[in-house]
Amino acid sequence: MRDSSIIKTTALEYSYSKEFQALADINLHIQRGQIYGFLGPNGSGKTTTLRLLLGLLKVQQGNIEIFGQELHTNRSDILRKVGSLIESPSLYGHLSARENLEVYRPIYGASIARMDHVLQLVGLGQTGRKMFRQFSLGMKQRLALALALLPQPELLILDEPTNGLDPSGIIELRELIKKLNREEGMTILVSSHILSEVEKMVTHLGIIFKGSMQFQGSIQELFRLQEYSSRLLVHTSDNDAAIRALYHYHPERSGETLSITIKDFKQAAEISRTLFEQDLDIYLLQPKVHDLEQLFIDLTTTPTLTPSHE
Ligand code: ADP
Repeated sequence: MRDSSIIKTTALEYSYSKEFQALADINLHIQRGQIYGFLGPNGSGKTTTLRLLLGLLKVQQGNIEIFGQELHTNRSDILRKVGSLIESPSLYGHLSARENLEVYRPIYGASIARMDHVLQLVGLGQTGRKMFRQFSLGMKQRLALALALLPQPELLILDEPTNGLDPSGIIELRELIKKLNREEGMTILVSSHILSEVEKMVTHLGIIFKGSMQFQGSIQELFRLQEYSSRLLVHTSDNDAAIRALYHYHPERSGETLSITIKDFKQAAEISRTLFEQDLDIYLLQPKVHDLEQLFIDLTTTPTLTPSHE
């Protein structure tokens, strides 16, 4: 059976200088067919990792395998099957979408049919004579993507592709990424610092903070994790009394409501009982589960919360 591992890094580290280690012990594991969101705040090490995967930075420590082969001994074989969008490619303002691709087509040895196919795929098949400089940002980004798709890659690596796009551009790009995965069978690694921009398209997530991985797994696993560290929003007839009664849960004030971190729903029941015993009227007792944004913030501000796993 064909090995389904597409990217595997082992104990990958990288330092830009003696004083500054940008990456520590990065163990990415990406399987064939996944859309893998690589998530973390700005400056957490995403681009550094992607540059290492693309051979744009030299591996100092650790190991990278792509398509089951070691990157440093099979670089050109591997990179031939990888499309990437990591910096804006040079596209010409006075040329049309098709003319721009025609400049690069011979370099990739792509056929005219392939060129026209990728133009259709990214939704730029009908732009005719319209010049690149007249394109919207979203169209420019899609043409850059078309260029990355010319050589028919098996793996696509995109660094913050939604940066600078307006909401409709983000939706178009998200739909395009899903389509490439579904119809062209591409495995896609896409980085972002905004959870909400990727959560609707990825199947798997890796969360990085200050150069180390905080979580790696499927979206479902992340939700499951969330259920065990949920918040309960509480609002009663006397919130000060509620804080005193619930002091060992460390409630935090958040406007009108109290926010309490709970491990499971049993604790929610205990809290409800305590409030009842204190004669407090409960106006609101609302578990906040599946709040990915909050979980992302938790994961990137309390690094020891959850160890990453495969
Ligand atoms: P991200 O892509 O998550 O925003 P980066 O990988 O670009 O993060 O950066 C990770 C850390 O490495 C940051 O602190 C950044 O300032 C630093 N860094 C990035 N590139 C360089 C460089 N060429 N020289 C020195 N430090 C760098």
